Formats: sequence, structure tokens, C-alpha cells
Amino acid sequence: MSIKLLNPRVISQIAAGEVIERPSSVVKELIENSLDAGSSEIIVEVMGGGVNLIKVMDNGDGILSGELELAFSRHATSKIGELADLESITSLGFRGEALPSIAAVADIDITTCSVSESVGSYLSLCDGIVANRKNQGRSPGTTVIIRNLFRKVPARLKFLKSLTTENSHIANVVTRYALAFSEVRFILSIEGKVVLRTSGSGQLIDSVTQIYGVEIAQNMLDISNNEVEWDSGLDETFLSINGRVSSPVISRSNRGYISFFVNRRWINSRLLAWAVEEAYHGLLMKGKHPVAIIDISLSPKELDINIHPTKTEVKFQNERVVFGAVQKAVRRALIGKAAVPKIEEITNAYQGISEMRQALWKMPLSGNKPVISPEKHQMLAAFPPVLRILGQLLRSYIVAEGPDGLYLIDQHAAHERILFEKIEKQRLAKEIETQGLLKPVTFEVNPEQDEILKTQYKNLIEFGFFMDPFGDRTYLVRAVPFVLHQKNWIEMVGELVDCLVDGDKKDWREKLAISIACHSAVRTGQTLTNDEMRELIGQLEQAVIPHTCPHGRPIMVQLTSVQLKKEFGRT
Ligand code: ADP
Ligand code: MG
Repeated sequence: MSIKLLNPRVISQIAAGEVIERPSSVVKELIENSLDAGSSEIIVEVMGGGVNLIKVMDNGDGILSGELELAFSRHATSKIGELADLESITSLGFRGEALPSIAAVADIDITTCSVSESVGSYLSLCDGIVANRKNQGRSPGTTVIIRNLFRKVPARLKFLKSLTTENSHIANVVTRYALAFSEVRFILSIEGKVVLRTSGSGQLIDSVTQIYGVEIAQNMLDISNNEVEWDSGLDETFLSINGRVSSPVISRSNRGYISFFVNRRWINSRLLAWAVEEAYHGLLMKGKHPVAIIDISLSPKELDINIHPTKTEVKFQNERVVFGAVQKAVRRALIGKAAVPKIEEITNAYQGISEMRQALWKMPLSGNKPVISPEKHQMLAAFPPVLRILGQLLRSYIVAEGPDGLYLIDQHAAHERILFEKIEKQRLAKEIETQGLLKPVTFEVNPEQDEILKTQYKNLIEFGFFMDPFGDRTYLVRAVPFVLHQKNWIEMVGELVDCLVDGDKKDWREKLAISIACHSAVRTGQTLTNDEMRELIGQLEQAVIPHTCPHGRPIMVQLTSVQLKKEFGRT
């Protein structure tokens, strides 16, 4: 499509505002242009935090010689024409504002050659005015060089942060697009040093490896292909969620590793970030965040990207549907059958448990290269390694030898996880194991607890507590959950009632299950026999999420053989 000025009616519908806030905004706009031009390679160079120099070189379609000046006019674009196009934007750009906005605050040199022309052209603009123009040889594609950014806008210049901060914003922008477009080769060099290089293989996992490193890449779970259809009253409404999320064995201390792309556009969304973090509920420690690359595709009509000039915020027509779909896709990958099948399923798929165990021995808790295919690896990633028990430490930790080094297992946390999963499984199947008491036991509650228990004691049946009111602030208990019958459950009744206080909230059941698991689990400080430890580890191996306890604390700590070697100065 050729570059044309938008008509005033369309212009008036475009969210107005400044698009160039800082050097990284320039980088973002230029990369988007290169991507819209169908480039398979984009090379970005930056000097002086982007203020001295930003160079973006691509091998895309290029700009026709006769249209080059027009590209620098405000609201000139080749990407949309009519008002109706605004409702179905498939390109990253559409406003026709980036090049003129950059030209207004910096000096620009552009060299471009269209795929349909044999000679390229060169144009240089100073203060938005053409300073030079000539024919120039170039292979198809475009190179844009920006110099002296904000030199004429001292207020903007003053607002910029340190060189390091501006460079990190730039690296962030390039990183996100490199994740979104794994089929494009990206090279970023900052202050003369290559800091990022992707291969453009088209495989997201390759980009993740090249950007975040092997350890993260080895622990990413596929969430792909969860196509959802819903009746939105529009034709052709579809929604699919693709991408990868980290297994709970790894986490980061900030949210900067969560990326969302909507129809391949990088967007910020606190709502969606929340959906993802909710899916990790109970799997990560407080203050820890996952790595997630989530690609949402949906009908352009379901989306308004025209609400903010920088196009990093979008509005979904059916926000709740998208939120739910993202959360479900992530949760399913984390604990669902699709990504983490039961032991038996793996056994069938991989010719017996012994082979699986062998694979586990080579598992990458350590960061070694995987020796099994990514698919198998992903299926196995959530299982703990098979462990040989060496003994008990401080009457709290089980010491074991595993596939790669030494493992310490928190006995209480491990047992808590096992019991929690058991309780949840039985409760959902309405098969909670209960133990009838030979003689009903009465217990008394305080007035505050009585108020709650009076109306909600029946909720406890789901968990195996059978009780009836028995006069003043007293209850008669006839049966208790099996896991608790040998424990001092009367002591924990207060805590159970506290879970019920939040009975309206949706998570009271989970709280209750956690509380029961916590009280039934072996204590820290309890001596365990070898048989008991073996039994515990055996059960842990069967757990769906064996790495964290239901509170999100880690169950296992590993000292790798590499670490050991290092400690002993053997490397
Ligand atoms: P928009 O991207 O919103 O259309 P811009 O001001 O960013 O507006 O760019 C104006 C026009 O210049 C684009 O519509 C496109 O036709 C052309 N253009 C800009 N950069 C490139 C590029 N790297 N390769 C090919 N064409 C480009
Ligand atoms: Mg653009």
C-alpha cells in the first residue's frame, strides 16, 4: 500500500499525544516500522543512552523513492486508509506520526530501497527540514539514523535518567519485540557492545534461551493452543492463547519477566499480569514472580488499540473472557493434565518408569543441557528427582543424593504438600476420609467463634468434620478428618473457625485444606526412621507440584555437583 495522508475525519479519531517520551520510544517506533515492513533481520545500535545515536537497520520492503518525503508528514501512513480500518488494525503502526514526531526532536538520516526499485534513496532532515537528498545504492530495506535527540528540547533532555537507565529501557523494548517475533533476527548493541542477539529461528524457546538464558528456558512450560470460542455477537470471534510460562521451580523478584503480546503487539496490562500471578497462587513464595511470555490472538474487532498514543495499552471488548482464558491456560500448564500428567501416563508414554527415572537423573535443576526432548522434558520438569536417602539433619531435613548432587528436603513442607493434595483430591471427589469417634467429643468456643460456627459448621462436613451445636457455645463432634484423628484437633478448631470467617470469599476452602494439612503433617523436630523418610519421598514424587509447599515455600534445596566441586577447589 502506498503512503497517503489520512483524511481529517480519521485523524480526529486517533488518540492524540506525544509518542516520543524518551530514547526507548524512538527505538520502539522504528522497530515497529521495520516489523511492519516484513523484515527478517533488525539491527539496532545505540550510543550515549540513545541521545547521541540510534540506528535501526532492517531488510524489509523499503520505501518508494517518490514517497520518502511524504513519510515524514504528520498523519501520512501506508497502513490504514479509511475510518473503518481503525477497527481492524493488523499492523503495529497506523497513526503516521512516528517519523514526523522524531524529525521534530532530532536529526534524521534515512537510507531506503524499495523491493520494487533498483536504486535506493537517501534523505537527511535537520530540525524537520530536508537538508540533503540523493539517490543511493542499497539492498532492499531501510536504515534510519537518529542523532542529537532532544537537543532542541532541553526540558525533555533534563527529564531523562542516567545513561544506564535509558539503555535499560532500550534493551527492554528490543527484548520484548525479540520475544514476540522469534522469526526475526535481532541484534542489539549498546555503546559498542552486542548485548542481545537472537537467531530468528521462529521458535519461541530459542528466543527465550538467547534472551533469558538456558536455565530459564529449560524450565518453561508450553501453554499453547487453547482456542476459545465465545458468542460475542460478532462473526469470526476467536481467541487463542500461546506462549510459555515458567515452572514453579524458578521465579524472579520482579514482574519484569512477564510479557504480553496482543496480536503480536507488546502491551502493558496490570490486569493480565494479575491473571497470570493468580494462576501461580500457592506455587510461588510471596514477593516472587514468574517468567511468562503470553501471546494473545483475537479478532481485531475485539480490541481497541487506539486508546493511547504509544499503543502500549489496549482495551478488550470482553475483558473477562480474555482474563479467564489467560488464567486458565497458565494454570492448566502448571498443574493440569496437559502439561503434568500423572505418573502412569508418563509411564505408558515412555516405556516404563525406569526410563523416566533415568531421564530424571539427568534433569536440569542444575542448569545442564537437557538430554531429553523439550516435550518430554516439559512433562518431567515438574517432578522431583529420584532420591537416595542418606539421613536426617537437625530432625527437620531429609538429606538425599539425587541426579545432580545433594538435596535437602524440608520434611514438614514436603508432608504438607502431600497431604494438601490428598485432601483437595478427596474433597473434590467427595471422598474425604473420615474417622468416626468412639465417643463424641464436646468442645467449647468463644462467643466470637460461636457467631461464625453457628451458621457455618456444616461447611466443615466437606472436610470430614461432623459436628452439631450442643447447647451454649458448645459443639458435639462425631467424626473428624482421618488425617487428624490422632492429632490434637481440638487445639486447631480455633484456626479452622478463622478460615470460615472468610467463608464468603472463594479461598476459604483452600485455607482450610492448608490448615488441616499443616496440622497433620510431620513436625519439624520430629525424628523419622529410614522407612518413614523413604515413604515420604516416595509420596512426594507422586505429587503434582512437588517443589513448593501449599504456602509457596520451597520444599527442596539442592547443592549441585558443580557447586560442590567449586567449594572444594576442584575446578
Ligand atoms: P505509521 O507506522 O503509523 O504508518 P510512521 O510515521 O511510523 O507511521 O511511518 C510512516 C510510513 O513510512 C509508514 O506507514 C511506512 O509506509 C513508511 N515506513 C516507515 N519506516 C519504514 C521502514 N522501516 N520500512 C518500510 N517503510 C517504512
Ligand atoms: Mg510507525
